[in-house]
Amino acid sequence: MSFNDLLEANREFAAHFDLAGFDGVAHAGVAIVTCMDSRIDPLGMLGLKPGDAKIFRNPGGRITPQALEALVLAVHLLKVERVLIVPHTRCAVASNTEAELRAQVAASAGIDASWQPFSVISDQVAALGEDVQKVHSHPLVPDSIEVGGFLYDVDTGLLDQKY
Ligand SMILES: [Zn+2]
Repeated sequence: MSFNDLLEANREFAAHFDLAGFDGVAHAGVAIVTCMDSRIDPLGMLGLKPGDAKIFRNPGGRITPQALEALVLAVHLLKVERVLIVPHTRCAVASNTEAELRAQVAASAGIDASWQPFSVISDQVAALGEDVQKVHSHPLVPDSIEVGGFLYDVDTGLLDQKY
């Protein structure tokens, strides 16, 4: 499979491109940490548009060391004042054990996957609370920064604030 269809779409995109020279700050003062899941439209679900928010995604929407690195840059250099941490319903890393994910990947890959770590979560809401606390308690995240933890329902499009 080549990338030709996507590059053709990109030329169409560029023909209407109007963000040239746009700065890299978050114009709505918002950062979003969410899952890689293709059902999630981080900007659309918050009524935002390109330029408004910093977005960091990984499996599960977890606060990892690299997510913290992104948020420290976001709050100090990119005008972010509010951070939303947004895991979602029916997430693969919250509904499988690590052994189950390794078995599924091994079946797809045709080779052993038992060495591959997968950061699974057994209690999604508890993990979200810990992640909110990780951001709040980071020495380089000022107290003035608002941090919220939300569960996104992939079947209704609604956010449920948990923290
Ligand atoms: Zn997910």
